[in-house]
Amino acid sequence: MKKKYIVIMAILTVLAVAVSIGVHNHRLESYKTEQSLEEEKIVLIAPQEEEGEVQKESPVEMSEETTDISLDEEIVNDGNPEEKPAEEKPAEEKPEEEKPAEENVVQPPNTSKVEAIPGQHRDPNNIVVVIDPGHQFRGDNNKEPNGPGSATMKARVTSGTTGVATGVAEYVLNLDISLKLKTELENRGYVVHMTRSTHDVNISNKERAEYANSVNADIAVRIHANGSSNASIRGVETYGPSASNPYVGHLSNASMSLSKCIVDAYAAATGFRNRGARTSDIMTGINWSSVPVTIVELGYMSNAEEDRAMQDATMQNNMIQGIANGIDAYFGL
Ligand SMILES: [Zn+2]
Repeated sequence: MKKKYIVIMAILTVLAVAVSIGVHNHRLESYKTEQSLEEEKIVLIAPQEEEGEVQKESPVEMSEETTDISLDEEIVNDGNPEEKPAEEKPAEEKPEEEKPAEENVVQPPNTSKVEAIPGQHRDPNNIVVVIDPGHQFRGDNNKEPNGPGSATMKARVTSGTTGVATGVAEYVLNLDISLKLKTELENRGYVVHMTRSTHDVNISNKERAEYANSVNADIAVRIHANGSSNASIRGVETYGPSASNPYVGHLSNASMSLSKCIVDAYAAATGFRNRGARTSDIMTGINWSSVPVTIVELGYMSNAEEDRAMQDATMQNNMIQGIANGIDAYFGL
């Protein structure tokens, strides 16, 4: 009964979201075939925490660090579908190496995706969660392959963005939230491992993924925060691989289910704008994973109000509860 209830709730959620943004038919249609997906996809600037510049000295440069998706208000569930902006970002704003990026709002095409969730109804005590607090004190601009066998080389790890109002570094926020999330998940019975618990480390994105693989994690949750050159952009989004990802396409269904569970629960707990679960196939830390993986972009540190909110103790608890609730939902708990 519980499983059935979750499936029904998932369907209702998908329908509600689709109707609310007024592009129901268009959206679902775009998922029917790879061909239509290719033509109708929302092209976004992908999160760049894995390849941004090491040095971040101005808000503009920081915005290079993570998602810059000023185009993409279409996917915002603001109930204002008539104001849909252009779907594609001008090419000149998109660095050459990001062109393979595919970013789409995830609307599961049917319930089989939800039913395919691994580990449903499992005892949390047997579930291993790896939390990867994104970035570290100093980035490492040496290169590593973007995926197994890939000729594309990206920076091992970058230093992340910085809060425009608080001045707090992303790697500090990421670890702060991650440590509190660890405690919350352990209180709920999960087995939790961290890729780092201090700032002064040097662990590449590939190595972070390999760590989750090595401990046979059931899921890997990568904690990041976002930045944009557009200070008005705000909200939470999550990322997983697409089904056509050449390295981890087989993990797409589970990863996107996880991504959707978390983004929905997080938005509900925080009141943050729900920017949806999206796909990205250029993230080293995703491409090297052998377990379902999601990147949680907690919010926009380039938005002053959201930056300040993410330093508020009460809000941080909401953020943590939201992520934990999403993980519970993914596992059917
Ligand atoms: Zn980041």
